[in-house]
Amino acid sequence: MDHADPKDFYSDRKWCPSCDRYVAYLMSVTTSYCVECGGEVRLFSEDDWESFSASMEARRPRSKRSKKTNSGRKSA
Ligand SMILES: [Zn+2]
Repeated sequence: MDHADPKDFYSDRKWCPSCDRYVAYLMSVTTSYCVECGGEVRLFSEDDWESFSASMEARRPRSKRSKKTNSGRKSA
C-alpha cells in the first residue's frame, strides 16, 4: 500500500532551499511554494540539477560533421 517508490517521491516533492530538503509544495502558475516555509521551491536541489543536466547533456546526440574534403574533385 504505501510502497515508497523514489520516483513517486520526487514527483510530488520539490527541493526547498530554505528547508534544505525535499518538501511537499503548492503549485501556482509560474512557481511552486514550500508548504513548510512558504518559500519558493525548485524541481531539484543544485546537486541533483547538476547531475540531471549532465545526463541530459550526455543523452544529446552529437552531430558529427564529417569534414568534407574536395579530394574527389577532378579538375582537368
Ligand atoms: Zn521550505
